Amino acid sequence: MKVVLITGGSRGIGAATAKKLAQQGYAVAINYKSNHAAAQQVKEDILKAGGKAQYFQADISQEQQVVDLFQVVQAHFGPVTHLVNNAGVLAQQMRVEEMNAERINWMLMQNVTPYFICAREAIKQMRQSSLAKQCAIVNVSSAASYLGGANEYVDYAASKGAIDSFTKGLSLELAAEGIRVNGVRPGCIYTDIHSDGGEPNRVDRVADLLPLKRGGTSKEVANAIAWLLSCESSYATGTFIDLAGGK
Ligand code: NAP
Repeated sequence: MKVVLITGGSRGIGAATAKKLAQQGYAVAINYKSNHAAAQQVKEDILKAGGKAQYFQADISQEQQVVDLFQVVQAHFGPVTHLVNNAGVLAQQMRVEEMNAERINWMLMQNVTPYFICAREAIKQMRQSSLAKQCAIVNVSSAASYLGGANEYVDYAASKGAIDSFTKGLSLELAAEGIRVNGVRPGCIYTDIHSDGGEPNRVDRVADLLPLKRGGTSKEVANAIAWLLSCESSYATGTFIDLAGGK
């Protein structure tokens, strides 16, 4: 059975991805940090549509909680065969000269270290799976990694730059085993993350500045994630799909 773990699968891009992958027959492990009701809603939507899902609370910035999460998911569904490293955060918009070390380190602890630790735990289970050659990881990065996030969140942009390097490096470490690692780089997508940056309506503000003249949807990102996880993309590894309306 294909088992996908989606970090931050309870809201936004993660929730859309959970529903899409459930439709494709994956058993879906929905990780969340604190919003239990949102996780429960995603599970119920999937079950109603005839899919398989369960939610699992864990703060993935805590290494032991990640280790425990993977063990509990394996006990529930069997070995994880696919991973979507998706959970991420933004902090209040500000310029670099206003940032202190506490904020920058927090950003890296939330957006970078967990992707490594989740991949480490996933790889162990992928090697135990009978579907080993079909296993894949998708890292959700951001267009900010190449745009830079100037005047708003260079710390966040840099954390996503790290994810791009991580994606490339890990893909090369795992290629000979047939485990593929790719990334998506969304631009301005309608989700709640913009409230974390202090500007809930940011997507509407910048929509007209984008070549496609609109923000993107979580479903549009989910479609690309699903393709990169699937055998349809079997010759792609260490690569990225940019979903940023032309930016
Ligand atoms: P979102 O709507 O704010 O949802 C964030 C999800 O991550 C929630 O399910 C949240 O769980 C979970 N989460 C956050 N910290 C966590 C932690 N420490 N442990 C476990 N779960 C945690 O975010 P989104 O916009 O969908 O973003 C998803 C990914 O896309 C992120 O990596 C983000 O950087 C990236 N991205 C988003 C955009 C955009 O415009 N939206 C653009 C580029 C890239 P709780 O609800 O329980 O807290």
